[in-house]
Amino acid sequence: LQTFISHASVALQNALLFQEIKYQASHDALTRLYNRRHFFQQAELLHGQGPLSVIILDVDHFKSFNDTHGHAVGDLVLQRVAQACKEVAAGSILLARYGGEEFVLATNSTGEAEELAERLRRGVESTRVSTESGETLSVTISLGVAGGTSGVENLLKAADEALYRAKESGRNRMVAAAWQT
Ligand code: GH3
Ligand code: MG
Ligand code: MG
Repeated sequence: LQTFISHASVALQNALLFQEIKYQASHDALTRLYNRRHFFQQAELLHGQGPLSVIILDVDHFKSFNDTHGHAVGDLVLQRVAQACKEVAAGSILLARYGGEEFVLATNSTGEAEELAERLRRGVESTRVSTESGETLSVTISLGVAGGTSGVENLLKAADEALYRAKESGRNRMVAAAWQT
């Protein structure tokens, strides 16, 4: 019985380790959102089902959180932005950390993408981040939206250009690109 138990225990440990490795391969450690690699895989699958909309969002003046309050507070801001986005985006919407202080979403509900982006903007705007030193910080994001049938890479490029226009025109706003074919 003891031999059986010790073998079963090793098998269980291996199974748990495998689950953990699988999780780490598809998730971002800081925010626990999907990572960029997983996003591309899933977005391609979604786009295979029809037109796709993507939203790229970028934290406004994020560098100043790091510079003023330190890197740990910067990390906390990223976690809170991720959490706020998760709360706004329903379960069926693909949401990932794109890199640094940028996040990305993809959905087949192309008619609702702009409204979703606006809800994300408001959701983050109303978020308050409490630091260990007792400060309460506000944070805003700018967003670029692109929908169409032109492929994931092209849609991301169009959304990124729209994001750039959102930054240029004052930040804390959403800009949508024309339909991409
Ligand atoms: P903008 O409004 O134009 O987007 O300005 P910004 O300051 O948000 O953009 P910028 O690209 O100048 O700075 C982004 C900073 O994000 C620089 C980088 O050091 C920081 N950063 C990237 N990843 C992380 C992270 O995981 N944690 C922390 N704390 N900082 C990060
Ligand atoms: Mg950026
Ligand atoms: Mg930024």
